[in-house]
Amino acid sequence: MWQTAGQEHIVGFLTESILRNRMAHAYLLVGPPHVGKMTLAIDLARALNCTAENAPCGICRTCQRIVQGKHPDVVMIDKNTGRDPSERKKAAEISIDAIREFVQKGSSLPPYEGKYKVYIIEDAELMSVEASNCLLKTLEEPPPHVVLILLTTEEGALLPTVISRCQRFELKPVPLAVIEKRLTEIHGLAPERVKLLSKLSGGCLGWALLSAGDVSFLKSREDRVDEFVTLINKNWDERLLYIQQLPSDRQVIAEILELWISWCRDVLLIKYNCDEVVANIDRIADLKAWAGMLTVPEIKDFVDCLNTAIANLLYNANLHLILEVLMLDMPRKEKRADSLYFAV
Ligand SMILES: [Zn+2]
Repeated sequence: MWQTAGQEHIVGFLTESILRNRMAHAYLLVGPPHVGKMTLAIDLARALNCTAENAPCGICRTCQRIVQGKHPDVVMIDKNTGRDPSERKKAAEISIDAIREFVQKGSSLPPYEGKYKVYIIEDAELMSVEASNCLLKTLEEPPPHVVLILLTTEEGALLPTVISRCQRFELKPVPLAVIEKRLTEIHGLAPERVKLLSKLSGGCLGWALLSAGDVSFLKSREDRVDEFVTLINKNWDERLLYIQQLPSDRQVIAEILELWISWCRDVLLIKYNCDEVVANIDRIADLKAWAGMLTVPEIKDFVDCLNTAIANLLYNANLHLILEVLMLDMPRKEKRADSLYFAV
């Protein structure tokens, strides 16, 4: 059984291609973080190698070893592949050595025990140009027993020549009802927590499951929201103090900025009277206060600034500078004692 949820169109297509023996040699799975790209890639690896009639059965030894990451014919490649453990923390790209040693050389040999050798390249956008060009050699003349699966959140960062050699699938956000059902089944969480997490997930099932398994998640998100909602009333010095105490981990900052974007999106929805579709359903009063303070163009401009900041984070721009610019770009409103707001 396929473990992938909410991507029936892709699963149906792949099942049919395997049945008819018309698989592509390379697949590109595109979608936001935690939407289910890796689950789908592992499903496909199982479906290709499972020995049961209704592949992927999920029960046979092959299926189980693939899920555990212990099958010799299913190889995961990421930015840490082939690196010494001491180098891993600062590794920013998938090296040519990883592609040459593991994909190019490995694919020239027949499968050890399965039917196909499957290479799953996670965060494929992190391949260096040299690594991409090396991969192209395998993509151009793929051995018949090899299937490559590239996963990416940033398709635009891949070489067009790589994209054009892959069968491309875009994973859609998983429907809310499916996420709610899975959360209820797996974790037995309180109904209001299930509702909040599924709303906050934005259709990314993996994210919802990870957050449900981490009790500190909702608390730290609440703290982040508390800090952010008051920033709008703060002056430049106070904002500067705030950004100085933020962590220097780019990934954490990117997550904080994504939270701010989701907040601003909700404020817009409130302004458009679409309260029922907001994500931050536990903070409606704060969202309404923001909606009362800000105009639609002000919110949209700030969202543009946030998107630019996230893009700059990816390009290794100076972290402190990015945050300083954001604090300058963020609209400022003065809160009065009678709780009416006016622009300053
Ligand atoms: Zn099986």
